Amino acid sequence: YWKSFQKLSDNKWEYHRFHIFHGYLSILTENYFTCSKADYKALGSVIDDKTEPYLFRIEAAFTRGLKEWDRSRREDAATFYRLAIQMGDEMPESQRRRKFLRMDPQNTGKIHWTVAELAEVTLKTVRDNLRVLEYKTAPPISGTNVAGDRTYPRSDGTTYVDPQRSKFFGGTSDLELLDRMAVGGSKCDGCGKTLAETGLEELFRCKRCRMAYYCGEACQRKRWKAGHKEACRQPNQIEVGDYMRIGRLQSKPEWQGLVVQVLKPDPNKEGRWLVQGEAIKQQVSISSNKLDHIRPAA
Ligand SMILES: [Zn+2]
Ligand SMILES: [Zn+2]
Repeated sequence: YWKSFQKLSDNKWEYHRFHIFHGYLSILTENYFTCSKADYKALGSVIDDKTEPYLFRIEAAFTRGLKEWDRSRREDAATFYRLAIQMGDEMPESQRRRKFLRMDPQNTGKIHWTVAELAEVTLKTVRDNLRVLEYKTAPPISGTNVAGDRTYPRSDGTTYVDPQRSKFFGGTSDLELLDRMAVGGSKCDGCGKTLAETGLEELFRCKRCRMAYYCGEACQRKRWKAGHKEACRQPNQIEVGDYMRIGRLQSKPEWQGLVVQVLKPDPNKEGRWLVQGEAIKQQVSISSNKLDHIRPAA
């Protein structure tokens, strides 16, 4: 894909180049292959090349951000996401109006999309991912949702600590809590060494929950015995007492990102759980596929 993309450098082939480039990015984002050094370089060259259409550069920056996130480099991921958003703002009208034939969102047939619409599909994900990285959907457990008047810790270091959180989390310290609500991966969950201190390209992830990070087998073993064995969950495994984050609900989008505790299975509806949180005081029933684990407690 990459070689074809380079060979077809003339932008009179923009439509074909778009499809080829999209194919290349798809296999990278789907993790069919490990992203190699050459791939990082290739993505970087498109991002930096001002003669390339903005749409391509946005897609490249998004993919690069995703790969950085995969490698636990959260700050780098955020940088590329911000770059994508900036390029979306800068895209000239002449490019925005261009049209490409692509599948419609329901996959029923091909329709004409403007470049602006295609870019927006990617930029929406970029903004969502960036919000997670910046803690903005994190858990205003008591009260206001999503970056309202209340602030909570952001990647720039400003923090706000709500005493309600500690209460709700049964004495868990705020730092622990933040750690559990972050994506993790900036340090070893065993010895606490930062990624830089370990000298590794990336930390190892628990194969089961994929949310605990270690510098090596020794730390992983130690933590497993010390309690990760009980705290580790498979992605679709839910236990009573777990703290989980609510996903996007059609009927209650403002609940997205809130952290709640699982009380018990909903006796009236299979596949649903009764949950409660500081921001949602009454017990509510949520489908298990709308509940995401936060990082394990141990
Ligand atoms: Zn370690
Ligand atoms: Zn685990």
